Amino acid sequence: MAVSPPLQRPTNSKRFPILPENSDYFEVSHSLRAKAMSTDHSILLLQQRPQLWAQVRQWRQQGLRIGLVPTMGNLHQGHLSLVEQAQRHSDRVIVSIFVNPTQFGPSEDFALYPRTLERDIEQLKAFQVDAVFAPSPDEVYPHGHDQTMLLQAPLKLGDTLCGLSRPGHFDGVVTVVSRLFNMIQPDVAVFGEKDYQQLLIIEYMNRELGYPLEILRAPTMRESSGLAMSSRNQYLSDEQRRQATAIHQQLSWCVEQLERGQFVTKADYNALEAQATKALAEAGLAPEYFTIRRADNLHSFDDLPAGSQLDVGQPLALRVLAAARMGETRLIDNLPAQLVQSKPA
Ligand code: AMP
Repeated sequence: MAVSPPLQRPTNSKRFPILPENSDYFEVSHSLRAKAMSTDHSILLLQQRPQLWAQVRQWRQQGLRIGLVPTMGNLHQGHLSLVEQAQRHSDRVIVSIFVNPTQFGPSEDFALYPRTLERDIEQLKAFQVDAVFAPSPDEVYPHGHDQTMLLQAPLKLGDTLCGLSRPGHFDGVVTVVSRLFNMIQPDVAVFGEKDYQQLLIIEYMNRELGYPLEILRAPTMRESSGLAMSSRNQYLSDEQRRQATAIHQQLSWCVEQLERGQFVTKADYNALEAQATKALAEAGLAPEYFTIRRADNLHSFDDLPAGSQLDVGQPLALRVLAAARMGETRLIDNLPAQLVQSKPA
């Protein structure tokens, strides 16, 4: 099992003032400001759009490339690996921290979602991040999030998998990400493969709306048990955390089967999916989906006649994706699989 190595603190030593000359420019709480100044790397905390625009403008005038890492905070090593990737591809990195109300359904965990801004800022300082953009909901949704103009996620990509159990979720995601792109106009933005469907939708949106920026993909960071890191893992008890490792085990098992090349018909895929789904349930999870899809567009193979083989003469990139509940907590994960298969005679 591939386990990601621990992250190293980056070696570059950029220094920026937390406050510009004009201290009215920032309206951060005193405790946050004091904390942010308490270690030797300082970080800009931006909470309002005009502050953000001014800072971005200044960096642009200096010819600097700007990298963006959008997050909902409660940072873990998965997020920090995105930060490192952004740092490798840009001169200044902004991490946005915003628990976005429009991507949560009415019965979801918006109110409970862990908000740990002070601790997040400390971690980002240690990673020499240049700025945190942590707006209030009013800053992102000036007319209120229930009166806002929502962007719609592409139907085919958005109305499957997580879109089925979370209606409107991806509309909220593209709405907030497009706003961040508009406000920051980054040169690169980094997103994790952990949220693979989200990543494809954002890449689609980027092509569709023609933003002059590059989307970078970051691999999934895992606990040593294989469990994908997630802010929601902290809802799990120790026992649930152990049980939840079945998701990664079943994904890995399925990839192994596929890559052996013996499973080539639609019926084979369905059998693999059914077996893995059963194993998840036996491990104490409530599976929502376990599915083998094309990696580029999430199409399933349901249109293939049951006994026929995939007509691919060249390697085909697949993605195996799963969502399951452990108690109240919804977990998702996925892995790539490369199908090497010769054209049927
Ligand atoms: P979130 O704060 O959950 O909205 O995630 C912010 C970004 O971090 C998204 O692009 C996620 O895909 C990415 N991310 C979350 N968990 C992981 C992980 N375990 N490994 C890599 N990226 C992750």
